[in-house]
Amino acid sequence: MDYVSVLERTLVHNFLHFLIPALATWIFYRKDWRSSYIFLMLTMLVDLDHLIADPIFDPQRCSIGFHPLHSEIAITIFALMLIHKKLRIFGFGLLIHMSLDGLDCTWMASFSPGIPNS
Ligand SMILES: [Zn+2]
Repeated sequence: MDYVSVLERTLVHNFLHFLIPALATWIFYRKDWRSSYIFLMLTMLVDLDHLIADPIFDPQRCSIGFHPLHSEIAITIFALMLIHKKLRIFGFGLLIHMSLDGLDCTWMASFSPGIPNS
């Protein structure tokens, strides 16, 4: 029997929030990887918008389009941050974050917890 539980999906999703920025710093910011990784990790503060949601955390809720800092307008602003050199790394980190959240939404939609996946 092959299925992905909500817990497994949530653990993989959160692990990717640390792994993908680490890979991005290794590829794009190898010279200043320490500070770059810290800047990319700081972009996870975007999830503070979950604090105004009820419940604050729902593993079965898609963040994209639900939380204000995960809206299309916010994502557009994050993309525009790539233009400005000093904001670029934050825009990059925020877009990585949104991509991973979007991936989680896709993953969530393709699996029903507890139901075998053939
Ligand atoms: Zn998020």
